[in-house]
Amino acid sequence: MTSDQFIARFWGTRGSFPVPGPQTVRYGGNTTCLELQVGKHLIIIDAGTGIINLGYDLLRRSRQQGGTPIIATLLLTHMHHDHTQGFPYFPPAYMGTSILHILGPRTLEEELEDALNHAVLPPSFPVSLREMPSFKLVRSLSETDMVVFDHEQSWPHIYNVYHDQIQHSADMVQVHIHKSYAHPRNGMYIYRIQWRDKSVVFATDTEGYAGTDRRLVKFACNTDLLIHDAQYTTSDYLANKQGWGHSTPQMACEVAELANAHQLVLFHHNPTYHDQQIAEMECEAQKLFPRTLAAYEGLEIVL
Ligand SMILES: [Zn+2]
Ligand SMILES: [Zn+2]
Repeated sequence: MTSDQFIARFWGTRGSFPVPGPQTVRYGGNTTCLELQVGKHLIIIDAGTGIINLGYDLLRRSRQQGGTPIIATLLLTHMHHDHTQGFPYFPPAYMGTSILHILGPRTLEEELEDALNHAVLPPSFPVSLREMPSFKLVRSLSETDMVVFDHEQSWPHIYNVYHDQIQHSADMVQVHIHKSYAHPRNGMYIYRIQWRDKSVVFATDTEGYAGTDRRLVKFACNTDLLIHDAQYTTSDYLANKQGWGHSTPQMACEVAELANAHQLVLFHHNPTYHDQQIAEMECEAQKLFPRTLAAYEGLEIVL
Protein backbone atom coordinates (compact mmCIF):
# COMPACT_ATOMS: atom_id res chain seq x y z
CA MET A 1 0.00 0.00 0.00
CA THR A 2 1.35 3.42 -0.87
CA SER A 3 0.47 6.66 0.86
CA ASP A 4 -0.85 7.96 -2.41
CA GLN A 5 -4.06 5.95 -2.48
CA PHE A 6 -7.66 6.43 -1.37
CA ILE A 7 -9.07 3.02 -0.46
CA ALA A 8 -12.31 1.94 1.24
CA ARG A 9 -12.24 -1.45 2.99
CA PHE A 10 -15.31 -3.05 4.48
CA TRP A 11 -14.80 -4.91 7.79
CA GLY A 12 -18.40 -5.07 8.98
CA THR A 13 -21.45 -4.74 6.77
CA ARG A 14 -24.29 -6.04 8.92
CA GLY A 15 -26.93 -4.04 10.77
CA SER A 16 -28.35 -4.50 14.25
CA PHE A 17 -26.42 -7.53 15.57
CA PRO A 18 -23.63 -9.88 14.45
CA VAL A 19 -24.71 -13.03 12.63
CA PRO A 20 -21.90 -15.54 12.10
CA GLY A 21 -22.84 -18.76 10.34
CA PRO A 22 -23.13 -20.57 7.04
CA GLN A 23 -25.92 -18.29 5.77
CA THR A 24 -23.84 -15.10 6.04
CA VAL A 25 -20.49 -16.25 4.66
CA ARG A 26 -20.72 -14.25 1.42
CA TYR A 27 -21.68 -10.81 2.75
CA GLY A 28 -20.38 -11.25 6.28
CA GLY A 29 -21.84 -11.31 9.77
CA ASN A 30 -19.97 -8.53 11.57
CA THR A 31 -21.57 -5.18 12.36
CA THR A 32 -20.59 -1.82 10.92
CA CYS A 33 -16.97 -0.89 10.33
CA LEU A 34 -15.38 0.83 7.35
CA GLU A 35 -11.68 1.56 6.97
CA LEU A 36 -10.59 4.45 4.80
CA GLN A 37 -6.97 4.75 3.82
CA VAL A 38 -6.76 8.36 2.66
CA GLY A 39 -3.21 9.04 1.60
CA LYS A 40 -1.20 8.61 4.77
CA HIS A 41 -4.25 8.98 7.04
CA LEU A 42 -6.23 6.11 8.53
CA ILE A 43 -9.89 6.89 9.15
CA ILE A 44 -12.20 4.26 10.64
CA ILE A 45 -15.95 4.80 10.51
CA ASP A 46 -17.86 3.08 13.30
CA ALA A 47 -16.81 0.44 15.76
CA GLY A 48 -19.21 -2.46 15.24
CA THR A 49 -17.70 -5.94 15.58
CA GLY A 50 -15.94 -5.50 12.22
CA ILE A 51 -13.43 -3.24 13.98
CA ILE A 52 -12.02 -6.25 15.88
CA ASN A 53 -10.65 -7.94 12.75
CA LEU A 54 -9.50 -4.57 11.46
CA GLY A 55 -7.59 -4.11 14.73
CA TYR A 56 -5.76 -7.41 14.31
CA ASP A 57 -4.94 -6.50 10.72
CA LEU A 58 -3.55 -3.13 11.86
CA LEU A 59 -1.30 -4.99 14.33
CA ARG A 60 -0.10 -7.22 11.50
CA ARG A 61 0.64 -4.20 9.28
CA SER A 62 2.42 -2.45 12.15
CA ARG A 63 4.64 -5.51 12.72
CA GLN A 64 5.41 -5.64 8.99
CA GLN A 65 6.59 -2.04 9.18
CA GLY A 66 8.92 -2.74 12.10
CA GLY A 67 6.46 -1.86 14.84
CA THR A 68 5.32 1.60 13.76
CA PRO A 69 2.66 3.02 16.10
CA ILE A 70 -0.97 2.77 15.03
CA ILE A 71 -2.45 6.23 14.54
CA ALA A 72 -6.11 6.36 13.58
CA THR A 73 -9.15 8.59 13.67
CA LEU A 74 -12.39 6.84 14.57
CA LEU A 75 -15.52 8.62 13.38
CA LEU A 76 -18.73 7.42 14.96
CA THR A 77 -22.05 7.94 13.17
CA HIS A 78 -24.14 7.41 16.32
CA MET A 79 -24.01 5.39 19.50
CA HIS A 80 -26.21 2.38 18.73
CA HIS A 81 -24.71 -0.96 19.75
CA ASP A 82 -24.05 -2.21 16.25
CA HIS A 83 -21.78 0.82 15.72
CA THR A 84 -19.91 0.72 19.03
CA GLN A 85 -19.93 -2.84 20.39
CA GLY A 86 -16.57 -3.83 18.87
CA PHE A 87 -14.65 -0.96 20.44
CA PRO A 88 -13.79 -2.69 23.76
CA TYR A 89 -12.18 -5.49 21.75
CA PHE A 90 -10.16 -3.27 19.39
CA PRO A 91 -6.59 -4.48 20.02
CA PRO A 92 -4.78 -1.18 19.18
CA ALA A 93 -6.71 0.51 22.04
CA TYR A 94 -4.63 -1.61 24.45
CA MET A 95 -1.24 -0.62 23.06
CA GLY A 96 0.49 2.28 24.72
CA THR A 97 2.01 3.35 21.41
CA SER A 98 -1.37 3.77 19.65
CA ILE A 99 -2.87 7.20 19.16
CA LEU A 100 -6.63 7.22 18.66
CA HIS A 101 -8.70 10.28 17.89
CA ILE A 102 -12.32 9.43 18.56
CA LEU A 103 -14.88 11.80 17.09
CA GLY A 104 -18.64 11.58 16.94
CA PRO A 105 -21.93 13.34 17.49
CA ARG A 106 -22.76 15.48 20.47
CA THR A 107 -26.28 14.53 21.40
CA LEU A 108 -28.67 16.68 23.38
CA GLU A 109 -28.12 14.49 26.43
CA GLU A 110 -24.38 14.01 26.65
CA GLU A 111 -20.90 14.49 25.27
CA LEU A 112 -19.35 11.76 23.14
CA GLU A 113 -16.98 10.46 25.83
CA ASP A 114 -19.85 9.92 28.28
CA ALA A 115 -21.98 8.35 25.57
CA LEU A 116 -19.17 5.96 24.61
CA ASN A 117 -18.60 5.01 28.23
CA HIS A 118 -22.29 4.35 28.70
CA ALA A 119 -22.62 2.45 25.44
CA VAL A 120 -19.92 -0.19 25.80
CA LEU A 121 -17.75 0.28 28.87
CA PRO A 122 -18.16 -0.28 32.64
CA PRO A 123 -20.27 -1.66 34.21
CA SER A 124 -20.95 -3.84 31.15
CA PHE A 125 -17.22 -4.22 30.36
CA PRO A 126 -14.33 -4.44 32.86
CA VAL A 127 -12.00 -1.80 31.39
CA SER A 128 -12.82 1.91 31.15
CA LEU A 129 -11.76 4.17 28.30
CA ARG A 130 -9.21 5.87 30.56
CA GLU A 131 -7.72 2.54 31.65
CA MET A 132 -6.95 1.49 28.08
CA PRO A 133 -3.22 2.15 27.59
CA SER A 134 -3.48 3.84 24.18
CA PHE A 135 -3.41 7.62 23.94
CA LYS A 136 -6.93 8.77 23.18
CA LEU A 137 -8.48 12.10 22.38
CA VAL A 138 -12.26 12.06 22.40
CA ARG A 139 -14.20 14.99 20.99
CA SER A 140 -17.83 15.61 20.24
CA LEU A 141 -18.67 17.00 16.82
CA SER A 142 -21.46 19.38 15.87
CA GLU A 143 -22.99 19.45 12.42
CA THR A 144 -21.40 22.86 11.86
CA ASP A 145 -17.94 21.31 12.29
CA MET A 146 -15.59 20.12 9.59
CA VAL A 147 -12.70 17.74 10.29
CA VAL A 148 -9.51 18.44 8.38
CA PHE A 149 -6.25 16.52 8.09
CA ASP A 150 -3.40 18.37 6.53
CA HIS A 151 -0.52 16.67 4.81
CA GLU A 152 2.10 17.37 7.43
CA GLN A 153 0.31 16.15 10.56
CA SER A 154 -1.45 12.92 11.33
CA TRP A 155 -4.01 14.34 13.75
CA PRO A 156 -7.31 15.94 12.79
CA HIS A 157 -8.21 19.60 13.20
CA ILE A 158 -11.79 20.59 13.84
CA TYR A 159 -13.14 23.80 12.40
CA ASN A 160 -16.47 25.52 12.67
CA VAL A 161 -17.42 26.00 9.03
CA TYR A 162 -19.11 29.35 9.71
CA HIS A 163 -16.66 31.01 12.07
CA ASP A 164 -13.17 29.59 11.63
CA GLN A 165 -10.63 30.47 9.02
CA ILE A 166 -9.76 27.11 7.43
CA GLN A 167 -6.18 26.78 6.27
CA HIS A 168 -6.67 25.22 2.85
CA SER A 169 -3.92 23.18 1.31
CA ALA A 170 -3.92 21.17 -1.88
CA ASP A 171 -3.47 17.82 -0.18
CA MET A 172 -5.78 18.23 2.81
CA VAL A 173 -8.40 15.63 3.66
CA GLN A 174 -11.79 17.13 4.47
CA VAL A 175 -14.54 15.40 6.41
CA HIS A 176 -17.91 17.12 6.02
CA ILE A 177 -20.78 16.32 8.36
CA HIS A 178 -24.46 16.00 7.55
CA LYS A 179 -26.98 15.33 10.27
CA SER A 180 -29.79 12.97 9.32
CA TYR A 181 -32.93 13.06 11.43
CA ALA A 182 -34.26 9.87 9.85
CA HIS A 183 -33.05 7.48 12.54
CA PRO A 184 -34.37 6.98 16.08
CA ARG A 185 -33.83 8.55 18.62
CA ASN A 186 -31.26 11.27 18.00
CA GLY A 187 -30.57 10.90 14.29
CA MET A 188 -27.04 10.20 13.11
CA TYR A 189 -24.17 11.74 11.20
CA ILE A 190 -23.44 11.11 7.56
CA TYR A 191 -19.84 11.79 6.62
CA ARG A 192 -18.35 12.90 3.32
CA ILE A 193 -14.62 12.30 3.11
CA GLN A 194 -12.97 14.30 0.38
CA TRP A 195 -9.38 14.07 -0.80
CA ARG A 196 -7.91 15.55 -3.95
CA ASP A 197 -10.70 15.08 -6.52
CA LYS A 198 -12.27 11.97 -4.91
CA SER A 199 -14.91 11.49 -2.25
CA VAL A 200 -16.81 8.86 -0.26
CA VAL A 201 -20.18 9.44 1.39
CA PHE A 202 -21.09 7.09 4.23
CA ALA A 203 -24.84 7.13 4.87
CA THR A 204 -25.88 4.23 7.05
CA ASP A 205 -28.82 4.04 9.46
CA THR A 206 -30.97 6.49 7.57
CA GLU A 207 -34.46 6.10 6.15
CA GLY A 208 -35.55 7.41 2.76
CA TYR A 209 -38.27 9.98 2.36
CA ALA A 210 -41.11 10.20 -0.14
CA GLY A 211 -39.63 12.05 -3.10
CA THR A 212 -36.08 11.07 -1.98
CA ASP A 213 -34.00 12.63 0.80
CA ARG A 214 -33.10 15.84 -1.03
CA ARG A 215 -30.80 17.15 1.71
CA LEU A 216 -28.77 13.95 1.38
CA VAL A 217 -28.84 14.16 -2.43
CA LYS A 218 -27.29 17.61 -2.19
CA PHE A 219 -24.70 16.48 0.35
CA ALA A 220 -23.71 13.46 -1.76
CA CYS A 221 -23.66 15.38 -5.05
CA ASN A 222 -21.18 13.91 -7.59
CA THR A 223 -19.55 11.61 -5.05
CA ASP A 224 -17.39 8.78 -6.34
CA LEU A 225 -18.72 6.28 -3.83
CA LEU A 226 -22.03 6.41 -1.98
CA ILE A 227 -22.38 3.82 0.79
CA HIS A 228 -26.06 3.79 1.72
CA ASP A 229 -28.30 1.92 4.13
CA ALA A 230 -30.38 -0.74 2.38
CA GLN A 231 -31.55 -2.88 5.27
CA TYR A 232 -35.02 -3.90 4.12
CA THR A 233 -36.65 -5.27 1.02
CA THR A 234 -39.49 -3.01 -0.10
CA SER A 235 -42.08 -5.60 0.94
CA ASP A 236 -40.64 -5.94 4.46
CA TYR A 237 -40.36 -2.16 4.72
CA LEU A 238 -43.98 -1.68 3.75
CA ALA A 239 -45.18 -4.56 5.93
CA ASN A 240 -44.02 -3.15 9.28
CA LYS A 241 -40.67 -1.34 9.16
CA GLN A 242 -41.62 2.24 8.26
CA GLY A 243 -40.13 4.65 10.78
CA TRP A 244 -37.46 2.21 11.97
CA GLY A 245 -34.74 4.40 10.50
CA HIS A 246 -33.54 2.21 7.64
CA SER A 247 -33.86 2.25 3.87
CA THR A 248 -34.56 -0.12 1.00
CA PRO A 249 -32.22 -0.69 -1.97
CA GLN A 250 -34.68 1.33 -4.08
CA MET A 251 -34.30 4.34 -1.76
CA ALA A 252 -30.50 3.99 -1.94
CA CYS A 253 -30.63 3.84 -5.75
CA GLU A 254 -32.81 6.97 -5.92
CA VAL A 255 -30.27 8.92 -3.86
CA ALA A 256 -27.37 7.58 -5.96
CA GLU A 257 -29.14 8.50 -9.20
CA LEU A 258 -30.21 12.01 -8.18
CA ALA A 259 -26.84 12.75 -6.55
CA ASN A 260 -25.03 11.57 -9.70
CA ALA A 261 -22.92 9.20 -7.60
CA HIS A 262 -20.40 7.19 -9.56
CA GLN A 263 -20.84 3.99 -7.57
CA LEU A 264 -23.32 2.74 -4.95
CA VAL A 265 -22.68 0.22 -2.18
CA LEU A 266 -25.70 -1.22 -0.33
CA PHE A 267 -24.96 -1.40 3.36
CA HIS A 268 -26.28 -2.38 6.83
CA HIS A 269 -27.72 -5.73 5.75
CA ASN A 270 -30.60 -7.07 7.76
CA PRO A 271 -29.27 -9.74 10.15
CA THR A 272 -32.20 -12.01 9.35
CA TYR A 273 -31.48 -12.01 5.60
CA HIS A 274 -29.37 -14.85 4.23
CA ASP A 275 -26.75 -14.45 1.53
CA GLN A 276 -29.20 -15.49 -1.17
CA GLN A 277 -31.69 -12.77 -0.21
CA ILE A 278 -29.02 -10.08 -0.22
CA ALA A 279 -27.78 -11.32 -3.61
CA GLU A 280 -31.33 -10.92 -4.95
CA MET A 281 -31.60 -7.40 -3.50
CA GLU A 282 -28.25 -6.55 -5.11
CA CYS A 283 -29.47 -7.88 -8.45
CA GLU A 284 -32.73 -5.90 -8.26
CA ALA A 285 -30.86 -2.74 -7.33
CA GLN A 286 -28.49 -3.14 -10.29
CA LYS A 287 -31.52 -2.86 -12.59
CA LEU A 288 -32.21 0.58 -11.10
CA PHE A 289 -28.61 1.77 -10.71
CA PRO A 290 -26.19 -0.49 -12.59
CA ARG A 291 -23.01 0.49 -10.73
CA THR A 292 -24.28 -1.05 -7.48
CA LEU A 293 -22.70 -3.63 -5.19
CA ALA A 294 -23.90 -5.09 -1.93
CA ALA A 295 -21.19 -4.57 0.69
CA TYR A 296 -19.35 -7.68 1.84
CA GLU A 297 -16.61 -8.21 4.39
CA GLY A 298 -13.30 -7.91 2.57
CA LEU A 299 -14.66 -5.65 -0.18
CA GLU A 300 -11.98 -3.16 -1.12
CA ILE A 301 -12.67 -0.22 -3.42
CA VAL A 302 -9.83 1.90 -4.72
CA LEU A 303 -11.03 5.38 -5.58
ZN1 LIG B 1 -27.08 0.27 12.78
ZN1 LIG C 1 -28.72 2.81 14.48
